[in-house]
Amino acid sequence: MVLNAGSSSLKFAIYGADAALAPLATGLVDRIGPEGRLHLQSPDGAALPTAPGPLSTHGEALETALESLRRAWPALSVAAVGHRVVHGGLAFEAPVRVTAAILEDLRAFIPFAPLHQPHNLAGIEAAMLAFPEAPQVACFDTAFHRSHPFVNDTFALPRAYFDKGVRRYGFHGLSYEYVSGELARRAPDLAAGRVVIAHLGNGASMCALKGGASVASTMGFSALDGLPMGTRCGQLDPGVVLYLLTEEGLSSEEASDLLYRQSGLLGLSGISNDMRELEASKAPEARDAIDYFTFRIRRELGAMAAALGGLDALVFCGGIGENSARVREEVCAPMGWLGLGVDPAANASGAGILSAPGAPVTVMVIPTNEERVIARATRDTARAAG
Ligand code: ADP
Repeated sequence: MVLNAGSSSLKFAIYGADAALAPLATGLVDRIGPEGRLHLQSPDGAALPTAPGPLSTHGEALETALESLRRAWPALSVAAVGHRVVHGGLAFEAPVRVTAAILEDLRAFIPFAPLHQPHNLAGIEAAMLAFPEAPQVACFDTAFHRSHPFVNDTFALPRAYFDKGVRRYGFHGLSYEYVSGELARRAPDLAAGRVVIAHLGNGASMCALKGGASVASTMGFSALDGLPMGTRCGQLDPGVVLYLLTEEGLSSEEASDLLYRQSGLLGLSGISNDMRELEASKAPEARDAIDYFTFRIRRELGAMAAALGGLDALVFCGGIGENSARVREEVCAPMGWLGLGVDPAANASGAGILSAPGAPVTVMVIPTNEERVIARATRDTARAAG
């Protein structure tokens, strides 16, 4: 079982614990609380019957999910549980089997990711109670980026802050691990070179890879930095934050809410955080929001090409990266100077290689699958631990 626990939601996926890791079902409990409800789907997208709500806690959500799963697979038992954990600090460079001591270590990172880490850990605690016999494995969004050089990890603050952990960690690492692994399988020559992966979803970031290792990422200390996102601001002059606090009189909670939940595509457009709605809208503000999004992607791509000393491949993934031909076109077309471009028909199809044959930079779509990375790591870590 793969779990991704948020503040009021629990996403999960079930895989057969064999070599093939065949997907059996995915599920979502949303609005955990008085309106909490379970939605369950088979791999072909068909809805499976579920026990009724309300589901008020992560624990109740898990028990109800198991009960519903056993209607479809009466003999189902959970062999191991893998958890998406946003922050592994510097210590965790790989998935780890969770013990009480490890759970304590992971609590130390709550101040670094206060909106996600506590809920991820609540998911682990609920799963430990619901499946006491099953090994619990934590998989980290930060781990993939631990190969960054100092110049990418540091801020130009007094050195003591770096030593205290104020540095660029980078996120979306599970997605980058999956996509870079797929790239290595499909095109090993490209994967050995200079690659940028653009994970463009509700959360968005880019990762520069040299020979398969992450050397830079647009997300930094928090998941706010870099590209604008559905509701997050992306790169921001720190002077703006000081101004908001001192001149606008925002409390730190209000500033956090503004930067995480009211900004990005939603803040700029005043219409929606959802790219589909913005693409369908005729409002100039929707156009502005998409323009800003693609402009920032191009800027960061130029910066990443500089960090890599050139570019061999650009790979799109995430809900927007996989589905929006318009965003891909608006990122690539103005960057012909870097060798980028997409073939219109291939871009419209959105599958595989989108650049013209012989183009200097290969542009691709590789659909991401973070759950599968967690499932693999969980099976392997649980086995290794016996
Ligand atoms: P999350 O980061 O929450 O996992 P996703 O990766 O599912 O998010 O991405 C969600 C984003 O993908 C939304 O902005 C949504 O509008 C966008 N998206 C999904 N399908 C399309 C599409 N066909 N065209 C444009 N944008 C799309």
